[in-house]
Amino acid sequence: MSQTLVGSRYELHVAREGAAESRAARDYFAVHAGDAEEAQEGEDITGYVHSFEVGSTVDGPGLRFVAFLTGCLLRCQYCHNPDTWHKYNGHPVRVSRAMKQIAKYAQVLKVSKGGLTLSGGEPQMQRPFVMHVFRRSKALGLHTCLDTSGRLGEKFTDPELMDIDLHLLDIKSGDPATYERITRQPLKPTLDFARRLSVLKRPMWIRFVLVPGLSDAHDNVEKVADIAAGLKCVERVEILRFHQMGKEKWAKLGLDYTLGNVEPPDPELTERVRGQFRSRGLTVY
Ligand code: SF4
Repeated sequence: MSQTLVGSRYELHVAREGAAESRAARDYFAVHAGDAEEAQEGEDITGYVHSFEVGSTVDGPGLRFVAFLTGCLLRCQYCHNPDTWHKYNGHPVRVSRAMKQIAKYAQVLKVSKGGLTLSGGEPQMQRPFVMHVFRRSKALGLHTCLDTSGRLGEKFTDPELMDIDLHLLDIKSGDPATYERITRQPLKPTLDFARRLSVLKRPMWIRFVLVPGLSDAHDNVEKVADIAAGLKCVERVEILRFHQMGKEKWAKLGLDYTLGNVEPPDPELTERVRGQFRSRGLTVY
């Protein structure tokens, strides 16, 4: 029952800022000044949305209405949505309009014990919009889930975090140097956020993207597994196997894609990595 309302999660959106191809790739990698600005608190603030998807079964429990928001500080080498990096590449959508769309599906989402997932990009870039939409969705009886790298977790207050039912937290490496090589950003804010969620006893699903030659080193996986095992309320670990679905987007945006020759992890490697997490008593998917 997957239905696309604005575009699919893999559809390329570059038109709002004009021809991205004509801009220098270096400029595209930079964080644009306006991207980090927060919307003013208010009743009907505007969010920036790449696409909506209804009926996902992989972005939290039950059936999910997933909104992919634009804006991200990270520049992951394997990002399959580089068109979400800049907030103003997204479609402006007011909270009231987003809620009209979500409300249409509230009944079926509730019956499946599902709800709303805000993903991206990095939804933490749009905290006021996220919290307004989440609070109004909870009033409809929907489960709420934030899919995040945790990079901007410090912007969220404890009461806000208590209002989010589940975090899908990406830990892209357990080693600071490797994390920075993968994302161009430091690891510490993600770890600080993970520990904060743990202290608050907020449910988490930890996600780890397995990329041969980049994140698969035994020691690197050990570090991520140790971090996950040290957190309370980790309900599961999901190993996301690297794929090449983003390759074409990098080319269309004129960006230098460094993983063009990397194959998805083979079953043997995937099983080794799953075993490293399982050996700590974690539930692994
Ligand atoms: S955090 Fe997600 S959206 Fe941001 S660069 Fe990494 S993979 Fe892409």
